[in-house]
Amino acid sequence: MNNQSTLLDTKALATTTAVTKASSKAKVLTGDRATGQLHLGHYVGSLQQRLILQEQYEQTILVADLQGLTDNGHNPHKVSDNILNVVADYLAVGIDPTKTTICLQSAIPALSELTMYYANLVSVARLMRNPTVKSEIASKAFGQSIPTGFLTYPISQAADITAFKATLVPVGDDQLPMIEQTNEIVRKLNHIAGQQILVECQPLLSKVSRLPSCDGKNKMSKSMGNCILLDASAKQITTAVKSMYTDANHLKVEQPGQVAGNVVFTYLDAFYPDADYVAQLKAHYQQGGLGDGALKKILEECLQQLIAPIRERRAMYINDKAQLIEILKAGTEHAQAETDQVLQQVKSAFGLNLF
Ligand code: ATP
Ligand code: MG
Repeated sequence: MNNQSTLLDTKALATTTAVTKASSKAKVLTGDRATGQLHLGHYVGSLQQRLILQEQYEQTILVADLQGLTDNGHNPHKVSDNILNVVADYLAVGIDPTKTTICLQSAIPALSELTMYYANLVSVARLMRNPTVKSEIASKAFGQSIPTGFLTYPISQAADITAFKATLVPVGDDQLPMIEQTNEIVRKLNHIAGQQILVECQPLLSKVSRLPSCDGKNKMSKSMGNCILLDASAKQITTAVKSMYTDANHLKVEQPGQVAGNVVFTYLDAFYPDADYVAQLKAHYQQGGLGDGALKKILEECLQQLIAPIRERRAMYINDKAQLIEILKAGTEHAQAETDQVLQQVKSAFGLNLF
């Protein structure tokens, strides 16, 4: 692919975006914390699905920089340095800004304002009971110093979802309590308003909602530094696959090996295009006669083929920061207009619409 055909015509973007938005398709909202480059977990957990969703729905993707700050308040560069990285990742995998609105959370004031209104409808006890928040607080070892922004981020997510009137929210299974909490806020607000101002949303789960890291111990995650990035070099891919956990008791090729808990098979299930072939490999491995080296070679080739074109496109986008900013700005301006309307409705529900 040459530069001419891949780089987007940003001048035409605002016009095309407006045309797309005039449709009455159901609305989908997703987002990513701007805490690092995106990785293979994002690819199978959300990006692949977003490529399909952008063809069928009115999709908004939020670069969640404010949410990134909720556990990085004292290290804000981690967030600000990664905003354009995330946008470049979107474009590199094929998110098309003429079909999907890509926007920046901190530059949409209605999202923060809505958070303030909704905060009055949620008790601290309810936030503390949220299972995702509970386990994240434990794993982040905040001790007695939980940032208020972190504790309240489910309220901010409810603001994001409702501000875009999203009815479908693609999430990992760990995010289901956020949907529940959002819908509670929606019901409370509608009750106060005496009419249906906000709409409830439904989760959309992806096939792979928790891709493990190479050692199989944790979820692949930006903050844990255990990722295969979408622009990993050929050498990094080779090293990562070689390091993958297989079956500790599979010492000789002729021995039967275990598929359950074998990270190489988890990845083949997630990425290899031919599921029948993966089933044959599993049978062979369980029977004995298929070595870890040969198995890893198959996965490595598959990941090399997947990542090489993404890496190439990403390098092109990240070298044109002006274009990335232009795309993000156009999407954000569109989002500002859309979310302001919902904010006005919510303010009216509280009777705070004097002028
Ligand atoms: P951080 O460590 O900063 O929280 P992260 O790597 O967990 O970053 P997020 O921005 O929190 O990434 O995740 C955004 C979305 O990406 C999630 O809701 C989920 O759908 C998807 N996702 C992230 N990591 C994975 C993974 N390992 N497997 C599948 N999906 C994932
Ligand atoms: Mg996360």
